[in-house]
Formats: sequence, structure tokens, C-alpha cells
Amino acid sequence: MDYQLTSVAELATRYLHTLETRKVAPTSEALQNLSRLDEPFPDFSTDANTVISLLDEIGSPATLASAGPCFFGFVVGGSLPVALAANWLAGAWDQNAGLVSLSPIAAKLEEVAMRWLIDVLQLPAGCGAGFVTCATQANFSGLAAARHALLARQGWNVEAQGLFGAPPITVVVGDEVHVSVLKALTLLGMGRERVVRVPVDGQGRMRADALPPLDSNTIVCIQAGNVNTGAVDPASEIISQAKAAGAWVHVDGAFGLWAAAASERAYLVKEVGSADSWAIDAHKWLNVPYDSGIVFVRDPKHLHTAMAVSAAYLVQGETRDPTHYTPDFSRRARGVEVWAALRSLGREGLAHLVERTCRHAARFAEGLHEAGYEVLNEVVLNQVLISFGDDEMTRRVITAIQEDGTCWCGGTVWQGKTAMRISVSSWATTGEDVEKSLEAMIRIAAQVRDQLKTEAGTK
Ligand SMILES: *Cc1c(COP(=O)(O)O)cnc(C)c1O
Repeated sequence: MDYQLTSVAELATRYLHTLETRKVAPTSEALQNLSRLDEPFPDFSTDANTVISLLDEIGSPATLASAGPCFFGFVVGGSLPVALAANWLAGAWDQNAGLVSLSPIAAKLEEVAMRWLIDVLQLPAGCGAGFVTCATQANFSGLAAARHALLARQGWNVEAQGLFGAPPITVVVGDEVHVSVLKALTLLGMGRERVVRVPVDGQGRMRADALPPLDSNTIVCIQAGNVNTGAVDPASEIISQAKAAGAWVHVDGAFGLWAAAASERAYLVKEVGSADSWAIDAHKWLNVPYDSGIVFVRDPKHLHTAMAVSAAYLVQGETRDPTHYTPDFSRRARGVEVWAALRSLGREGLAHLVERTCRHAARFAEGLHEAGYEVLNEVVLNQVLISFGDDEMTRRVITAIQEDGTCWCGGTVWQGKTAMRISVSSWATTGEDVEKSLEAMIRIAAQVRDQLKTEAGTK
């Protein structure tokens, strides 16, 4: 039997090498080629080799090179080689990670990875965790646990009775709340518009002095790592107020919570560990393949009760069946890559990964500031916001940078101003990549400025 894996390994390795030289964005030719896939459903079978060749030929060039070292859009990490390799082996295993009985190895690796993460992220020992697809799903799961705990305290069984007629829960968020938290609230029946929004400061941090009165029917959602600025909400002030009132605190720490792993950055998330639930992404800063997020809940029984499929599952047995901690039942064994990345990096490697990317971000800010462009945020983590002038100029520079293809950055609007966002989240980015990308950004911004001048002159 030819499993195709040797030949696909060659194609994949070749693809990864093209990342060093190709333009980050796909060419228009590559995008046009996608229409070749618009064929009718084949009447007859095709051999696997032909299918994989077609996939590589049409597919590989039509990717955004986000796995490469010069992708700075959104908050997107690459895949550590060890994590990608583990993903391949796990693919061959094809385990259903929902139950221990279906995959003893998947359950074991999750348990070990969970223990290591609780340690390195400085979360309370004894936390429960669920390995989910992304931070949106982790926010959903953490908030489901919160909803359960708050309503159970009032004698309401939300899993059995739903929310119709339930006592109301107040949800407090910062004005800079990530949309994924609002989406999670939508899915949970708690309503994205029923939230109480707290004003933020110039870095997007929730103002602890502007919190509404809190009580034991309140969930306070704080953020560790604003997608634009990287700023972390003042956890200790907010959590102490929330705790005093008996409120639940949920932390959206999709990428920012990883700061705990680097001693130079850990101060940013000090006290975040005294919350009740946390959401984090592994496909961002840990650099494992998609899709991979994790929810942690201080008291595992709240997550367990919110996620278990029926009351019959409520008794926790000797073994930790993964499905009792996630919305899914059948799913892939995504804990495998989390384990492999952590096992390979170790405490020191993980700290270096976080610290190195933060330093690269600081270098971008320094270089662009020196070139005369405005850095809109305090660069405390891996996120940098740049204004190249007025909104029109900044927008044009972003488009030109994407077209040039040396690197890729996206746009955002920060407190009313159009900005380019640089997120350094990949293990693969080197100091050379940063200098090369900086040079391109500065060169392109000067060209756009000249073009705009010429256009103004000819009007
Ligand atoms: C990226 C991000 C999310 C959403 O993460 P997904 O993995 O895309 O669901 C949520 N919150 C914050 C702060 C983020 O940075």
C-alpha cells in the first residue's frame, strides 16, 4: 500500500522552503488559477497521487504565506516544525480524542499538556481545561462554566432548564472587548447587547475606576492582550473588586496570557491567575497548527457540568474523559501538538519565543519612529500600531506593502485613527526578517508619500 506520505512530505518541504523567497500574498495569477477547481463532481475515481499533485499545484501558490517569517497580520503564529511533525503523526493515528477509551494517548497527552500549561501560565493548580478549536470557543466554554456556576448558586439548573425564566446575569466587558467574547455571549443566550461596557484608557485597558457596582450575579470579562495594542486590563484592581462582590471573572487571554511564560513580560499578567476562567490560543503564540485553543476553569466541576452531555455524566469517574470539558464530542487530538511544542521548547524555549517576538515588535516600533512615523501604542508586547500620516496615506501604504510582498501587515482603526498593525507572533521571524521588512515598509511609505504629493500637485 502506498500511503502517499513520502511524496507529500517532499511537496510540503518544498512549500515551506518557498516561504523564504516568495511574496507573502498570493499572486493574482495564483488566485485566478483557483477557478480550475470549479469542475463538476467527477463521475469516476482518480488516484491519490493525481489529487495531491493538483492540490499542490493549484493550492500551494494560492495560500497566504502566514506560515512564513514575514507575516505580521492579525495575530497569527506559524507552526513550529516539531508541532507540524507531531500533527502529521497524529493525523496518521486518526484518533477520536473525545473519550479515553477511544484514545488513551490523546487523553494522556492532554492531561500532561494541561498540567504544564497551568504551571507555566501561573494558573491555579487544580484548574480544569478543555482543548477546543480557538479562543472564541474557549471564551464560549469559560462563559458557559460561569453561567452554570452563577445560576446554580441561585438554585437554577441552566443545563436542564435553559435561560427562559432564569434569574438575570449581568455581563461586564471593557469597551475594547474582543468580538469573540460577544459572539460567545450570543451563542450562550446571554445577548451581545445586554453587556455593560466599561470605558477604556488610551491603551484600550478597562478602567477599574469606572466599573459599575458588581454583585454575585455578575460576570466580569477582562482582557489580557488587546489585539491592537497588546495592553492588559488592570487585573488586580478589577479582580479584587469582583471577588469582594462575589462576581465571576473571565479572562480573554488569547495571546496575551502567554506573557506569563516570559519572565520579562510576566509583570503584565500579574494577578490574572486569580480570576475564575481563562481562554487562550495555542495556534497563536505557541505556534502549533490550527485549530487549537484552550479553556481553563478554576473549579473544574463548573466546566464539567456545563459541558457534559447529560446528567448521567455528572459523576466524575477516575478518568478524565476529554469530551466532558469541551462543546464537541468527536474531535481530533489537538493536545498532541500542544504537548509536542511544550515538550520541545521547554520553559526556556517558550520564554525565548515570547520574549524574542516582543523584541522584534519593539525594533519595528523603533525603526518606524526613527523614520518619522507615529507609533500609536505603548509597545509592551508583540503588537505595534503605526500611522503613516493621515488615514488615506496609511491605507495606501498598507495596500502597497501587501502588494510588494516582502512582508504582510493588516489595517485597523485605533481610537478613531487608521493604523497599520504589526503583530510578531511567529517562531520563524529572525532579526534579519525584521530589518528586511522594516526597509520595505520605509521604502514603500516614502513612495506613497511622493505619489500623494504628485497627485495633489496635478489636481
Ligand atoms: C485572536 C483573539 C481572539 C479570537 O481567537 P480565535 O482563535 O480566532 O477564535 C479572541 N480574543 C483575543 C484577545 C484575540 O486576540
